[in-house]
Amino acid sequence: MADIIRLLPDHVANQIAAGEVVQRPSSVVKELMENAIDAGATDIQLIIKDGGKTLIQVVDNGKGMSGTDARLSFERHATSKIQKAEDLFNLHTKGFRGEALASIAAIAHVEMLTKTEDDDIGTKIKIEGSKIVSQEVVVAPKGTSMLVKNLFFNIPARRNFLKSDQVEYRHITDEFHRISLAHPQVAFSFYNNGSDVFQLPANEFRKRIVHIFGRKTDEKLVPVEEETQVVKISGYILKPEFAKKSRGEQFFFANNRFIKSPYLHHAILGAFEGVIRPGTHPGYFLNLEVNPGTIDINIHPTKTEVKFDDEHTLYAMLKSTVKHSLGQFNVVPALDFEQDQNLDTPYSYKNKQVGIPQVVVDASFNPFETTVKTSKGNNSTGNYKKPKVEGWENLYAGLETKVESNVSHLEFESEVVNSSIFDDEKESIEPTTTTFQLRKKFIITTIKSGMVVINQSRAHQRVLYENFLKNITIKEAVSQQLLFPLTLSFSPGEMNILKEIKDNLCTVGFVFGDLDDEGVEIKGVPVLVAESEVQMIMEQLMSDFQQEVPGDSFSQSDMLAKTLAKTLSVKTGESLDEFSQVKLVNDLFACKETTLSPFNKKVYVTITENDIERKFI
Ligand code: ADP
Ligand code: MG
Repeated sequence: MADIIRLLPDHVANQIAAGEVVQRPSSVVKELMENAIDAGATDIQLIIKDGGKTLIQVVDNGKGMSGTDARLSFERHATSKIQKAEDLFNLHTKGFRGEALASIAAIAHVEMLTKTEDDDIGTKIKIEGSKIVSQEVVVAPKGTSMLVKNLFFNIPARRNFLKSDQVEYRHITDEFHRISLAHPQVAFSFYNNGSDVFQLPANEFRKRIVHIFGRKTDEKLVPVEEETQVVKISGYILKPEFAKKSRGEQFFFANNRFIKSPYLHHAILGAFEGVIRPGTHPGYFLNLEVNPGTIDINIHPTKTEVKFDDEHTLYAMLKSTVKHSLGQFNVVPALDFEQDQNLDTPYSYKNKQVGIPQVVVDASFNPFETTVKTSKGNNSTGNYKKPKVEGWENLYAGLETKVESNVSHLEFESEVVNSSIFDDEKESIEPTTTTFQLRKKFIITTIKSGMVVINQSRAHQRVLYENFLKNITIKEAVSQQLLFPLTLSFSPGEMNILKEIKDNLCTVGFVFGDLDDEGVEIKGVPVLVAESEVQMIMEQLMSDFQQEVPGDSFSQSDMLAKTLAKTLSVKTGESLDEFSQVKLVNDLFACKETTLSPFNKKVYVTITENDIERKFI
């Protein structure tokens, strides 16, 4: 048989490598910005168009390249950053694999303009799908400008796989945040479709965070500082009361490189345990400085997953350092959910005046006399009735009832029967069906053939979802005016999302007042929404839309209805009174779709009489 093994031509090998390095426009942004940092730039501009699909440009004032280097930089495994394998254990640069430019040039139209300090004249190279189109000598400022156009022009399958411009823009913004946070001493600017998104002057870390996430962030930050032989930890955590429903602001940097580490994230969760509400996520911006020899960055082409030599020690240190900061800044006691409730004075006693105890003596009292006497010289209690000796138990009667009446004021959250969700219609509904709530999770009701077990939360989601979707479509939502408008603050990134979805929010009943880059005034809310829930709902919306920005307006409405349904629905663990149970069952079966929740989860199961009979065999 003839030999069949061949070496792949370079441009094919580069395209394959590109698959690993360049997943989407944000990967290009990352590689180009990291190259600019490695080139020692102090000012970096990022310019994008159409979510980076048509254009990504990074301009830096770094050290630039000579003509030969400029040409060579597009070759695979061409790097100035390491020379031998040992260098891998002492990395001080972001890049070192020498494959980013080769990969990008294999799948896009690239123009590079570069000049070094020493050269008088610069170089311009055009390269398309790994082919050099032109190389010229041109006048250029010191530094490098990389222009990447028409990403994946030669791989239609990859291009079609890209998400909407907004989603890609969101990914790029995330990348921009990560790199600019990792390098606060470098000035950055960011332009999207011709408008200016960020202008970040060189600054200290705290100011960089505030510039990116908004002025209000400053007061939320608690410093974290610890230095040991293994690691230097520095940065900030967000005060526990600002823990969010979404996982937004969580950043680890190892030696100025953004990293993802579920393991270390877990350490932070441990430190915050008990001080943040369940279901919310702590925010953090933490730098870990370790000896470059003790960290392996080479395990993944995008280099965000790294391996530390001594992860367990790092875990323990991180946890205790963060805990210490929480304690030191006195943010824990105010929110200590674990605190023994019995040690707290009941609220009803808090404002009571402390009086001097008075002892009232009935001078005429004779314990051996059984007749009741009316006391005379006693002006404070009026009639004092001496209890009969045989009725001694009555002595405690008053005390008992007093204790009881106090207790009856206490409501244990888990026992609260939730009837409010359908309160308005309570009168008009007659329970015609018998329902039963099981474990505060399922509603059981009978049908002809047997019984239905309904997941209460999913059923309510379905009901709310269809309701909201209808409101959005026919634009007939009713809103309730808030007596005092609420002012909520958000980061500029979140405000961008809000601006995009604002019109749709109005159709479900939100009424907005003033709106700027850092916050919004809310004047009215949908009838189903309680004022206290507004912040939570808005955060949930931002986080859902941040992860997935729907392209057309229908999917935007759909997503809005889903988020509202998810946030406002009855949850597992809530008791429902009989009316609510019946109403939920009736509403569910009046829905267009009854079997699945808006998130495609099964809403109910039926168990037939036969099924039950069979169990008895
Ligand atoms: P790596 O960064 O892993 O070395 P790249 O393919 O990203 O590989 O870049 C190849 C080389 O091109 C770099 O090692 C560097 O010498 C040079 N280079 C790339 N971008 C720049 C830039 N913005 N300024 C100066 N030199 C650059
Ligand atoms: Mg690089």
